[in-house]
Amino acid sequence: MEKCFALISLGCAKNLVNSEQMLYLLSEAGYTLVEDPDGADFAVVNTCGFIDAAKSEAIDTILELAELKKTGRLGAIIVTGCLSERYRDSILSELPEIDAVLGVGSFGDIVEAADAVMEGGALSRFADQSGPIDELPRVVSTGPSWAYLRIAEGCDNFCAFCAIPYIRGRYRSRAMENILEEARDLAAHGVKELIVIAQDITRYGTDLYGKRSLAALCRELGRIEGVEWIRLHYLYPDQFDDELIDEIASNDKIVKYLDIPIQHINDAILKAMHRRGTGAEIRALFRTLRGRIPDLVLRTSLIAGLPGEGEAEFEELCEFLREARIERAGVFPFSPEEGTPAAQMERPDGETAQHRAELIMELQAQIMDEFCKSCIGKTLRVLCQDYDDESGLLVGRSYADSPDIDGLVFFEGSCAPGEMCEVLIDGAEDGMLYGKEI
Ligand code: SF4
Repeated sequence: MEKCFALISLGCAKNLVNSEQMLYLLSEAGYTLVEDPDGADFAVVNTCGFIDAAKSEAIDTILELAELKKTGRLGAIIVTGCLSERYRDSILSELPEIDAVLGVGSFGDIVEAADAVMEGGALSRFADQSGPIDELPRVVSTGPSWAYLRIAEGCDNFCAFCAIPYIRGRYRSRAMENILEEARDLAAHGVKELIVIAQDITRYGTDLYGKRSLAALCRELGRIEGVEWIRLHYLYPDQFDDELIDEIASNDKIVKYLDIPIQHINDAILKAMHRRGTGAEIRALFRTLRGRIPDLVLRTSLIAGLPGEGEAEFEELCEFLREARIERAGVFPFSPEEGTPAAQMERPDGETAQHRAELIMELQAQIMDEFCKSCIGKTLRVLCQDYDDESGLLVGRSYADSPDIDGLVFFEGSCAPGEMCEVLIDGAEDGMLYGKEI
């Protein structure tokens, strides 16, 4: 009889890669993926747990599955990922509906967990989260034609507000030959865009090779036949060097879109948050990047209501955003995470943090609109993704759009999904661009 499972992947792209690995392992072991957990033998929830909102989402998902289990419509629940790692001592007692739990160092044991719950048993496994990275194969679930390429695990930056280093362990780079082999395989299967990810990609190689090696990695990735775009996510601002900037500027395959989370611009806040570098250095870096990389699109992430943020510091951040015209930004209200130094510091109340986050979003929405309008009349290369039934148009992304977090380009034309084409932009609305293939 067919053994069916549902897989719910929450959180970020790094977590999605782990979900794709578990999907591969379970499929190889004879388990069949189904979309709906209703009626499945078991469900795997790969959780996120880095801020309160993510934890709530994970717990709500588990409780919904628990309801299905109670009425006999779901066999068992397996929980993996950041929430299970973070609450490894209490998760099973707090959520007794869970049958098996795996920490972030134990994704590779998913088949064992599945076999155990299929026999009515239980399993709890937590390997060292700073141990060697499992080089597991995966089933790519994104696309068409793009995939995440994770190059490192963990983080050594220990920003004062962030729980990731405690959850995901120390920074560990994957060996370059393994990354390149995976990239070649992805390209051979039609992937044109590689989205290079890690908590901090600028540190890549420092642990393995004794030096920053992101530029060298990008050079090699750019030589792979079939790879058209390399997109870089999560560059730490103080880790840029000339070699990296030169590589980004001169390598045609690297899209001129850089995701550089800065979190804040005020010196005292940056220092208190254990961020290296000052506001002046961030401003100088952005000026240098814009000067050396024409048409650069910048993305950043920000936290509103950090400890030490009074009205003046918040205004300084807004003033910086008005000047820097960062085309893409994500903003979170500060979430005091237990076990992190920032959670003990005095801070604006939650309502103020939320209100400030909304003000930043409004400001950024205007900046994004202006950027979109500036694209009208330009011809952009677009990776076609799909046909949109509602509008009757093709839909794709330009270099300025990363999947799921940025806009889309809707266009008339005959390009096949998965292929690239040139689109003349003739309209912009709500962060979306419109045009015609030429
Ligand atoms: S760089 Fe800072 S914010 Fe990013 S994952 Fe590491 S500790 Fe967290």
